[in-house]
Amino acid sequence: MASYRDLLQQVKTEIDEVDAARAQELLAAESRPLLVDVREQDEWSEGHIPGAVHVPRGFLESRIESAAPDRAAPLIVYCAAGARSAFAAKTLEELGYENVVSLAGGYTDWKRSGFPTELPRTLDSAKRKRYSRHLLIPEVGEAGQLKLLESRILLIGAGGLGSPNSLYLAAAGVGRLGIVDDDRVDESNLQRQIAHSTTKLGEWKAESAKQTIEGLNPDVEVITYRERLSAENIDRILADGWDVIVDGTDNFATRYLLNDASVWHGIPVVHGSVYRFEGQVTVFKPNEGPCYRCLFPQPPPAELAPSCAEGGVLGVLPGIVGTLQANEALKLALGIGEPLVGRLLLLDALSAEFSEVSLRRDPDCPVCGEHPTITEYIDYVEFCQGRPTHA
Ligand SMILES: [Zn+2]
Repeated sequence: MASYRDLLQQVKTEIDEVDAARAQELLAAESRPLLVDVREQDEWSEGHIPGAVHVPRGFLESRIESAAPDRAAPLIVYCAAGARSAFAAKTLEELGYENVVSLAGGYTDWKRSGFPTELPRTLDSAKRKRYSRHLLIPEVGEAGQLKLLESRILLIGAGGLGSPNSLYLAAAGVGRLGIVDDDRVDESNLQRQIAHSTTKLGEWKAESAKQTIEGLNPDVEVITYRERLSAENIDRILADGWDVIVDGTDNFATRYLLNDASVWHGIPVVHGSVYRFEGQVTVFKPNEGPCYRCLFPQPPPAELAPSCAEGGVLGVLPGIVGTLQANEALKLALGIGEPLVGRLLLLDALSAEFSEVSLRRDPDCPVCGEHPTITEYIDYVEFCQGRPTHA
C-alpha cells in the first residue's frame, strides 16, 4: 500500500508546479490566472495572497464551478506548503480543468519571498453561525454577508408592509435600519402589523419595531425617526445615508415627496401597496428605470382620489407584499439578481395569481426627464384629513 509520501510524490509527477517567483510573474501578466486558495477557514483568515478566491479543499469539487466556470482558463492553486494544492490540482484536472498549476512551497514560501499578502475581512464565528444559511449560497457567501452588514436601508412606515420588511431585513443582518413612523400601536393594527404585539399597545410604532428588531438580531443598528415625512425633514433624513428605501406608506402626499427626493438623492425605492386582496410591488431606481412620476406625473384632483375611508386588507397580504419588498431590497443591497426595475408585479391573493406589467421611463417626466419642470418639493394638500395611513 502506498504511503502518504509516496502518493504525494506520485501526484507531483502528474501535475505542473510553479515556484513563488514564477507565480508572481504569471499573476502580473495580462492574462492573469485565477488564484485559488484551498486552505481551511482559519488559515485563510490569517492572511492570503491578494486576489485569491477561497475554496477549501474539502469543498473543492462542489464549489469550484461557481468560482471558476471556464475550464480552459488558467488556475494557480495554493495551500500552506504545496501538498494539499498538489492533490487539488490533480482533482481539478480530473474535473476537466485544462490549465492548472500548483504553487510549490505554498503560502509559506510566498510570504517568505516577501510577496504581498492581505488580511481578509471576515465574519467572526458567531456571525458565521448566525448567517450560515447565507454563507452556503454562492451568490451571497461571506462577501455578500459582509456587504449586508454594511448596508443601510430606510423603512418608511412600521405598519403592515414595514413590519415584515423590518423583521426579514433585520434577520438577514442588514447593518443599519432606519424607521420613519409617527404613529402609535393601535389594537386594529395587530391583525397584520407583526412587528408589534398586544403588550406594545399605545407605544410609538418606531420604538416598538426597534425593540422587536433588537430582540431578533443585535447586529442591527436601528435608527428611529418619530416624525412624519415632510418637505421640511426629508433631506435631513435621507442625508443620514441610505442605500435603499422601502416605501411602506399608502398616501399620495408621501409617495410623491419620497419619489422626488429619491430621484434627487439617487436612492432606489422599493414600492409596495395593498388593498383588500390585491398587492403590487415595483422598484423605482433613479436613472435606470421609471420613477413614480413617469407613470403618474401629478396626483389626481382631490375629488377623484380614491376614497380615504380605511381600506380593508386581508391580514396576510401585507406580509406577502412586504416580504417581496424585502427580497428586492436585499437584492439591491447585494447587487444580485434582477430587481423589479421597470416591472410592476401584481398579486391577486384570491386567485393566487401573479402577473407583471412593464413600466417605461418617460423622457418628459417632470422630475427624472431630460428637462425637469419640478425642482423643489411640493407639499400636496392632504387627500385625507388627519394622519396618513401606513398599510
Ligand atoms: Zn420619472
